[in-house]
Amino acid sequence: CTPGSTKSREEKIVVTVRLRPLNKREQLAKDQVAWECIDDHTIVHKPQAPERAIQQASFTFDRVFGPVSLTETVYEEGVKNVALSALMGINATIFAYGQTSSGKTYTMRGITEKAVNDIYTHIMSTPQRDFRIRISGLEIYNENVRDLLNSESGRNLKLLDDPEKGTVVEKLVEETANDDQHLRHLISICEAQRQVGETALNDTSSRSHQIIRLTVESTLRESSDCMRSFVASLNFVDLAGSERASQTNADGARLREGCHINLSLMTLTTVIRKLSVGKRSGHIPYRDSKLTRILQHSLGGNARTAIICTLSPALSHVEQSRNTLFFATRAK
Ligand code: ADP
Ligand code: MG
Repeated sequence: CTPGSTKSREEKIVVTVRLRPLNKREQLAKDQVAWECIDDHTIVHKPQAPERAIQQASFTFDRVFGPVSLTETVYEEGVKNVALSALMGINATIFAYGQTSSGKTYTMRGITEKAVNDIYTHIMSTPQRDFRIRISGLEIYNENVRDLLNSESGRNLKLLDDPEKGTVVEKLVEETANDDQHLRHLISICEAQRQVGETALNDTSSRSHQIIRLTVESTLRESSDCMRSFVASLNFVDLAGSERASQTNADGARLREGCHINLSLMTLTTVIRKLSVGKRSGHIPYRDSKLTRILQHSLGGNARTAIICTLSPALSHVEQSRNTLFFATRAK
């Protein structure tokens, strides 16, 4: 009776799509809405004129959320089961994937907040177990790792291979949360620290990945044969803008914008594609990037994964949105 033994190893990655509303700027520019969620699973392209119709116009996922959906609904129906599996001893990762300004940070912050509420509700209602929650936060920018809980630690922390724990980030600060308030406070420090980098380095958030990792340790107070104690990680990952994911997008125009390929994002898309194919996929290149090394034990194997793909509805972004939907389709 080991944690997670009831879950099939073949279970697919949960893939959801969230379409945000048109923002002020897009409204002022009289941009058109190019996508519509026609039911809970299907998003379709709305051609503005027949000649603008695109090759594939309809995409189906585990769940799609339209522009009026609340983050609460995205959490409850899209990721809650994955997040709470960490409370049962199963490693879990939740990603936000999408182009810059599509709503990754907006969604991921809300999701993290809801998950923290649920974690502490579970802890309060499970008096027979003792829980300890630890948190660390890091940012990967240009394959350099920075600690979001310790601004003194520099911008290039080393990754080490630990025989027991797998890849660990050297000197990364890990704090133990006293309670939910304290945990929220520590999360807000990570978020503020990421913004500091943003102003200093000019738009790092579109190029950097942020990982907030909660480590859940739990012990049964009265010993029993089964599930006496476990440790699991729950990772909230706000990815770099997906416009940096694809080589085929690096056409002349985008190269002029300085939009070069992001190694961690490229490797992650390959890893996820291979995991979704399952056993037949052969070698999985976890070790090719910092992001995938750090997340290796929380991806694949017995771990659970949810990906929220965020989309701008604007016609002016239709190509990027379509790329995001293609990625989401391959991840299923
Ligand atoms: P990203 O992290 O993908 O670059 P952000 O999360 O920063 O994008 O979102 C860009 C802007 O759009 C922000 O001002 C954010 O508040 C707004 N926004 C994103 N998603 C939504 C949504 N679902 N509903 C309302 N506003 C949103
Ligand atoms: Mg962001």
